[in-house]
Amino acid sequence: MAEITVYGAPWCPDSRRTKRFLGEARVDFEWVDIGQDPDAAAFVLRQGAGKLTIPVVVLENGHVLVAPSPAQLGAELGIEAPAARRFFDLIIIGAGPSGLSAALHGIREGMHCLVIDRAAPGGQAAMTPRLMGSPGFPEGAPGIEVERSLVTQAHRYGLRILRGMGLSGLRRAGDYLVAVTDDGEEFTARSVLIATGAVYEMLGVAGEEELRGAGVHFCASCDGPFYRKAEELLVVGAGDLGAQEALLPRPRSWSWSRGRTASSPRRWSATGPPAMSSPSIPRLSLCMRA
Ligand SMILES: Cc1cc2nc3c(=O)[nH]c(=O)nc-3n(C[C@H](O)[C@H](O)[C@H](O)COP(=O)(O)OP(=O)(O)OC[C@H]3O[C@@H](n4cnc5c(N)ncnc54)[C@H](O)[C@@H]3O)c2cc1C
Repeated sequence: MAEITVYGAPWCPDSRRTKRFLGEARVDFEWVDIGQDPDAAAFVLRQGAGKLTIPVVVLENGHVLVAPSPAQLGAELGIEAPAARRFFDLIIIGAGPSGLSAALHGIREGMHCLVIDRAAPGGQAAMTPRLMGSPGFPEGAPGIEVERSLVTQAHRYGLRILRGMGLSGLRRAGDYLVAVTDDGEEFTARSVLIATGAVYEMLGVAGEEELRGAGVHFCASCDGPFYRKAEELLVVGAGDLGAQEALLPRPRSWSWSRGRTASSPRRWSATGPPAMSSPSIPRLSLCMRA
């Protein structure tokens, strides 16, 4: 149970600054949103002699501080102003659709969020030529377009997105979590949400690793164009994704099923891709894996 209570509102910059200051110093506190609690609002009014001045911080010893500066708060608590450490309510790892959606909801709830992605925002969705089933895009849309609208919305809310920075470690520090990035930067948060998506399935065949990026790829829409003049391309996977990918590169393409039949492919949506029936796949051979 926290010994310090902060009364404030999520829309108030001074309340957010106080929360951040305490978080960066890893001081545990209870947060009370006065907009959600009439008794708390009445308490704040009394402390401000009839004025609604926030934040109001009640210390362990009962001492009440009305709209304290970080320096005043630091002096009262015997902590120095934070240096390089940074604090957020929520750190989200992965800026794919899941991570960005979570961040948007978090921000709307008044949380101070940070999103970290080892690549660019958008995740797999941004690489998808036509993303079906996304809310607001009834006809589907290029994944990059959906990603752009998510990022625009996120920036409008002031979301901070760190690109090109992978999460390499996560450790506990009291009631907080410290996320460590590839280049050793540390960010502290009350909660960390891992939204790192799926990873490509490797086949486990000889040469696969050595030829990665030099003949073996994981995204036909990204790398297929390198092989426009190739005689043959092999697309592995005969679900909807395999079929969708096989439509992209222009050489003769094959698709190889790994346990799913062409007659029962999984659909992304009712208006999803044409699966295995498209005449624009020049040649399609299927085999099942035991
Ligand atoms: C070709 C293709 C077509 C598709 N078509 C559709 C469709 O039509 N409709 C549909 O609904 N879905 C479709 N999907 C699936 C959809 O793209 C995924 O379901 C969606 O992208 C998953 O979102 P996510 O945020 O969970 O994960 P991802 O999109 O995978 O995002 C994860 C993010 O985490 C980052 N990350 C991973 N590890 C770390 C780390 N250690 N540190 C920092 N960052 C990290 C990655 O860089 C990535 O940006 C398709 C997928 C593909 C590949």
